[in-house]
Parts: sequence; structure tokens; C-alpha cells
Amino acid sequence: MDDSGRRQFDLPSGASNPRGLLIAAVIFVCGVLLLSTALHVRWDKSQAMAKNTEAMQTLAAALNSQAESTIRVADTLLTALISMHRSGGHGDASLRELNQMAKTQISELGELDGLYMSDASGQYFLATNARAQRLNNSDRLYFQHHQKGSGSELYIGQPIRGKTTGQWVITLSKGIYDDDGTFQGVALATLSVERFRTLYRSLPLGEQGIVVLAKRDGTILARSQSDAQTYLTNISQSPMLQAINQGTPRGAVTLTAIVDGVRRVYGFDASLKYPVLVAVAAPEEQALAAWRQRAWTMWSFALAAVLGVGIMGLLVLRALGRQSAMAVELQAAHQSLATANSTLKTLAAEDGLTGLANRRHLDAYLASAFLRARREETSLAFALVDVDFFKGYNDAYGHPRGDQALIEVCRAMRARMRREGDLVARYGGEEMAIVLPGMSAEQALGMAEQVREAVQRLGIEHRQSAYDQVTVSIGVVAGVPGKDFTTFEDMVAAADRALYAAKGQGRNRVLLAGRQHSDTGQLAEMP
Ligand code: GH3
Ligand code: MG
Ligand code: MG
Repeated sequence: MDDSGRRQFDLPSGASNPRGLLIAAVIFVCGVLLLSTALHVRWDKSQAMAKNTEAMQTLAAALNSQAESTIRVADTLLTALISMHRSGGHGDASLRELNQMAKTQISELGELDGLYMSDASGQYFLATNARAQRLNNSDRLYFQHHQKGSGSELYIGQPIRGKTTGQWVITLSKGIYDDDGTFQGVALATLSVERFRTLYRSLPLGEQGIVVLAKRDGTILARSQSDAQTYLTNISQSPMLQAINQGTPRGAVTLTAIVDGVRRVYGFDASLKYPVLVAVAAPEEQALAAWRQRAWTMWSFALAAVLGVGIMGLLVLRALGRQSAMAVELQAAHQSLATANSTLKTLAAEDGLTGLANRRHLDAYLASAFLRARREETSLAFALVDVDFFKGYNDAYGHPRGDQALIEVCRAMRARMRREGDLVARYGGEEMAIVLPGMSAEQALGMAEQVREAVQRLGIEHRQSAYDQVTVSIGVVAGVPGKDFTTFEDMVAAADRALYAAKGQGRNRVLLAGRQHSDTGQLAEMP
């Protein structure tokens, strides 16, 4: 397998850690999802609160303007009645006319409950309610207020129970004075508290919603929810009234009521013409109910998304795990294949008995050495080595010992090779070949002689040999390929001829093609 294949197998276990990266990415995405949801939910809450506050304020402003216009109507009517009374005097005709006018106004306007006028002693001389005609109001606080001579301003009194009806009413009164300022009596308009309550209760503020109409001094005039104590209570200490009296006529506050412990958002609006104000409140919880629902939905979606991302991350992690396990297996398979491959290569190039390069390897090696030497114009030497009388050795000692002797001869030959490029190969049978790139004829002869001596020095007994021991004959050839030889087969043939000649001259000797060399080390021309 080539290098690129190996690199591919290495990827999953490489320096970059895809598992770590994936986990970091999943955590990041989930974090962003949760954070953005939290921020959005918070923003949505503040929007809901702001909207609610605004709604409370708007409602307070509308109700204040309604109360103000009712009071203004009463104010105008009372002024008109006083002025008519002053110009008409106390005559019966004039009183009848006044009475008529008052009754008409009451029935036409619908906002007022009753109109009354009493003299300086408190005795009514005008009453739209016939049963009140005989009554006296000198005991009332508003009467005493005007009796003291407090000016011609409209006086808004504390709610009282009507003497004839028993109903709670708001009293709006004006003092009647002579030109010299002598107190002459009181003109009074009453507003039904119930009418305000009905209006206030009709608003969609829920069970715990509150609407209050009050005076700036803290007196409660009407309240959506009320009991016997309500109109005796004074709320001047409330932060709302304090704010109004410090010059903030409209606004909103959030307060926890001491009575029921409910936290409410109050919108308030105070009249600039009359000393009254309206406050509208709804429980904070009620205002946030819709927001809470939206928040649940948003969190559900966010958590589902986080869960989805988490599960997907886990699946990818598992797939990655499987992939890297597969890569490890593949790597192992690749390794064993490579080992098998190199074993095969060795087997294909090696001779089984001697461990030398085999004939196939020799042919390839010699061919490439020949080409290179021809290209570089350098010398190349080649030698053929043949064991002498080897048939006789086998006959005398048997084939197994013949094999052993062959192995030893080959080992001795290989031990002589010193250079990287030198190759000893088994040519066939008891014949070996030596390739010596870059060697001249003399150097090659020297090397061949060393080989011959080395084999002789092994001293392997050989009764059938003329030398009584195992020896070899060697045919050597050397020259520049392309110049001295056309093909490497020519070189092999020349070496073979030299070897044949060496055999002919008695064996155990080295012969150079074209020249002769005896076992005594002297060079001689070949015949
Ligand atoms: P010469 O000196 O002329 O070379 O005589 P020789 O007997 O060596 O030559 P010959 O070609 O007549 O015989 C070669 C012998 O080498 C024949 C064969 O039995 C033997 N031989 C070849 N290969 C092997 C082998 O691998 N093992 C053994 N034991 N013998 C082998
Ligand atoms: Mg032979
Ligand atoms: Mg032989």
C-alpha cells in the first residue's frame, strides 16, 4: 500500500481531536440557545410589565377625567343654583322655579343623585328628593365647613350615608354668602358612590383588581371593593399620595398591600382642577400570566432544541467512535498485509536453500546494473562460480550433506562481499553468480581469488576431488557496458566460457575472460 493510503488511516487518531471539537460545538450551541432564550424571556417580561404599567396609567387617566367631568357638572350647577337663588329671592314662585330647574337637571344629566339647598340654620328649602325637604343638615361636616366662611370654592366632603336613603353618597357643596359675606346657607349636590362602584367593577381587572377615587388628603370617595370601614379609612400615608402631593400628578408604583399581601401595579392620575385622584391597580401576577405562558413555551422549545442537539451530538460521537475503531482495524489489517507483502517479496527474491538472491532477482539486478553502468560509462564485473566435482560429492556423502556443503560455500562467498552494491546470487544448481558494479578486471579477479581461497579454507572433505576438499572454479568478466559488451547476456556468456576454460585447466582456479589466472595467483592469457 502506498503512503497516501496510510495517511488516510491515520486521520481519526491524528492531532486534531474531532470528539473534543464536537463536544465543544454541542456545548457552545446549547449554551447560546439557553442564553438567548433566557435573555428573550427576560426582555419579554419587562415588555409585559411596561405594557401593564402603561395600561394602568391610561385607565387611571380616563377614570380621573370621568370623575373630574362629573364634579365639574355639579360645580357648574351649584354655581347656577346659587346665582339664581340670589337674583330670585325667597319667594314661593322663585323657589318653585329653582326646584323645577334642579329636578330637570338631575333627570337629564343622570350623573347626579340629588341637589339640595339649605338656609343658614341647616333647614332645606330646596331638595330634589321630596323626603329630605323637612330635614336639617347643620350637623354635617360640609355645612360646618361653609358656616365657618371658607370661601365660595366647591367643597368635596367625605362620603356619608344619606339620611333618607341610607345610601353612601359623595357630597359636593358650596357656601351661600351675602354680599357682605354673611353665611346664608349651603348648596349641595350628591353623587351616588354605588354608581362609581358599578363603573369601577365593570372594568376587566380581575378579582383582585382595585379602582379607588380619593381626595388628595387621603379620604376615600369610592372604591371598587368596599366595606363599612372603607370610607372611614385614610390613605394619605400611601407612597402614591405622597408622590402626588410632592408634585407628581400621574405615574405608576408597584406596592405590596398590607391587607392581603398581594403585590399590585398601581397607575394613578390626579385632577389638576379638583383635589381628587383615581388609582387603578391589578395584581402583578395577573399582568405576568400571559408572559408566564409564553415563557413556558419558549423554554419548552429551547429545551427540546438542546435535547435534539445533544442527541445528535451523541449519535455523531458514537459514529465517530465506530469509525475510529474501524480505522484501527484497517490499520492493523494494513500492517499485516504490508508484512505479508514484504515476506512475499523476500520469498520471491530469495533462494530457499542458501538464502542468497535467486535467479529471478539476479536477472533483474544484473540488467539494471548493466543499464546504469552503461549510462554512467563505468566498469561492471561479473563472475560465475561452480563447485568442482559436486556430482561426486553427492555420490560419496549423499544429497543432504551436499546441501549442507552448498550452504557453507554460499555463506563463505557472501562473507567476502564488502560493498553495498555487490550481489551474490544462486545461478542454478551448484552454480553461483557475483555482480560487482564499478569494479575493474583486476579488482574483480582479486575478489574472485579471495572467494576461491575462502572456499578452500573451509576445508570441507571431498574424497572424490583431485584436491581432497571442496573447491570452486570461477569465470570472471569485466568491462564498460555498451563499449565492451552489447548486452548483459554477452557478459554472462563470456563468464561462462571463462568458467568452462577454468574447468578444462584442472579446476580450483579463477580465469578472466580473455586472460588466464592460475591457482598460484599468477595471471595468464586464456587460450
Ligand atoms: P564439474 O567439476 O565439472 O562441475 O563436475 P560436477 O560433478 O560438479 O558437475 P556436474 O554438472 O556433472 O554435476 C553437478 C551436480 O551438482 C549434479 C547435482 O547432483 C549436483 N547438484 C546440483 N544442485 C544441487 C543441490 O541443490 N544439492 C545437492 N546436494 N546437489 C546438487
Ligand atoms: Mg555445474
Ligand atoms: Mg560443478
